Amino acid sequence: MTDIPADAETRRAVAPVICYPNDTLPKVDLALYRGAREGARKVDEVLVPPREAMAFRVAAGQFFRVSSVEGPQVGDLNLWNAHDLSERFYSGKTRALHGTHLSTGERMWSAFPFLRPMATITEDTLGWYGIDGYGGSVHDVIGTRCDPYTHNLLSGGQYHHCCHSNLTRALADATGMTLAEAEPHVHDVLNVFMCTGFTRDTGQYFMKASPVRPGDYLEFFAEIDLLGALSACPGGDCSSEHSSDEAACYPLLVEVFAPEEGALQGWSQPGTNGYDRTHGR
Ligand SMILES: [Zn+2]
Repeated sequence: MTDIPADAETRRAVAPVICYPNDTLPKVDLALYRGAREGARKVDEVLVPPREAMAFRVAAGQFFRVSSVEGPQVGDLNLWNAHDLSERFYSGKTRALHGTHLSTGERMWSAFPFLRPMATITEDTLGWYGIDGYGGSVHDVIGTRCDPYTHNLLSGGQYHHCCHSNLTRALADATGMTLAEAEPHVHDVLNVFMCTGFTRDTGQYFMKASPVRPGDYLEFFAEIDLLGALSACPGGDCSSEHSSDEAACYPLLVEVFAPEEGALQGWSQPGTNGYDRTHGR
């Protein structure tokens, strides 16, 4: 037992400050992106089957849309630089910069030493949801991805269709790597359509039935050439459980759109981070 100091309430009453005020981040020109999107044509599509993942490629300057089809379903999204898998989505720093859940105008940032926007969210049909009475919201960067190791730890058994395994297989198939080579590249995800938060009383990660319905979508602008992989989580809408075949699961649709020539005047691919990497030596 620790002793409670006499000024405990005073210390607790100190007002918080935002760790990373983000008003100095490079500005997002949504009008430019949306203008380019107007004349864009579809160049590819991938249907992700339930409890599976599929990879897709998006060139810098193109858009990709993740849509709910058939029924409420959440998706676990990984992104890599198509030319260098060591540059991958950094969920933790994205969370530090934007908050626990992402929506329109916010970005998926890459890992060190790159730390640049990989993709910018340009449309979110669930943007109306906001933060509910439980502190829940959609499209989180606070979860990780369901995985067979945690499942084994907590419940025993061997389950092979967790998002971690689905993403591993999809990356291996897309690159020709073995599963053992592909697995270390799989990383913490953007939980597309998933409704999550932390409980106020115990601080635990919670999920609840996603508000997503068929026709809803989250759309992104690719800032660099991307290799993506999306898993249709075995949790379905994540209203009860994951890491099993119990939940109703539906496919997710990924579509890629290419703007017309010249539609992105004024846009250029973001450079990698400006830190000189000498680390004080
Ligand atoms: Zn999952």
